[in-house]
Amino acid sequence: MTRTLTHGPAVVARASDVVCISPGATAMVWTGVGRSHEPIAVPGVGLAPGDALVAVELATVCESDVHTVRGDRPSVPPLVLGHEQVGTIVELGRGGARATDGRRLNVGDRVVWSTTVPCRRCTRCRHGLGQKCPNLRTYGHERTRRGWELSGGFASHVHVVAGTPIVAVAAELPAAVVAPASCAMATAAAVLEAATAIVPLEGETVLIAGAGMRGLAAAAMAKDAGAHVVVSDPDRGRREAARAFGAEAVADPRVHEGASGSLGVQVARTGRRGTSCRIALEFSGEPAAVRALASSLDVGGVLVLGGGMPPGAEVPIDPDRIVRRLLTIRGVHNYAPRHLERAVAFLADAWRRYPFGDQVASPLPLARIDDAIAAAARGVHTRVSVSSAAAL
Ligand SMILES: [Zn+2]
Ligand SMILES: [Zn+2]
Repeated sequence: MTRTLTHGPAVVARASDVVCISPGATAMVWTGVGRSHEPIAVPGVGLAPGDALVAVELATVCESDVHTVRGDRPSVPPLVLGHEQVGTIVELGRGGARATDGRRLNVGDRVVWSTTVPCRRCTRCRHGLGQKCPNLRTYGHERTRRGWELSGGFASHVHVVAGTPIVAVAAELPAAVVAPASCAMATAAAVLEAATAIVPLEGETVLIAGAGMRGLAAAAMAKDAGAHVVVSDPDRGRREAARAFGAEAVADPRVHEGASGSLGVQVARTGRRGTSCRIALEFSGEPAAVRALASSLDVGGVLVLGGGMPPGAEVPIDPDRIVRRLLTIRGVHNYAPRHLERAVAFLADAWRRYPFGDQVASPLPLARIDDAIAAAARGVHTRVSVSSAAAL
């Protein structure tokens, strides 16, 4: 039996398990370094049991999309980039799908979903390391293939496959606020969890390197948890933005230690442990920041690396200092479903107190994804966004 449903401007007709979308879905396909994206039309999507078809409301460009397009990270085109987005479910596979909290999802629900889909069966998944599952599927990173063409956020629709952690989003949460949750905010939540397993946040001074979206989100989350936040970034505009996200003090990593804008002097301004602290979070992706942060740690301190580092970079750190100061250095890549839940729960209230929406430029049309990625590379805004609903 065929049924026809109308969801906003798109008509979805369904015969068996194939959903025909009218007008057809569009995905912008990255075809390689130095080349433009090309649109592909996807008139039908085969939904397996547990799958969902989501109409993308807004997608934001993450730093990793910029790195892929530049050729800084290994990726095999053609692929549909984009892994930070919010959208509305327009159709469900047989049996429907459930959110991470167990609630049944319905057509019309507004959702975000995890960047990664773990198998939930392998040893790593059983050990709580699902984001490193060897059978992992990843939105916005995999070569386009028949049957999963709508696999990234730079599209009118995303085919959200069974097993994807999905979190429902309240209608009042602005799209620009919540779209980055599925990478930046969820990763920030994972990094904070890794730190607090060693040192609780309340009353501590937290030093954050990098005032991009992850650093700003971590600053606001740490501030809400009762920490005193110091943010370091070479960009003056970003340092000022950090103040609006809870930073009591800001530092310029290019300033020599001891000068007024240096890390140590700014940490001292929080007035707790002299020029050292017990929690340091690295989001800048600069190897030099790792050394500076490690040097700032007091006895029992923890440094968590949550920013993508250039492969092969080496950082001189005095191992004697790690031993004698009882330091912990941890790495975090991606996140678990609970971190996405935590990020959305945090934003539900925090977006009224911290200017998350102001960090995202007004959406460009989806067809201008090349311009959007170029704008993201220039870094004028913390995030650049695209929407198929934006006027050409
Ligand atoms: Zn990302
Ligand atoms: Zn697995």
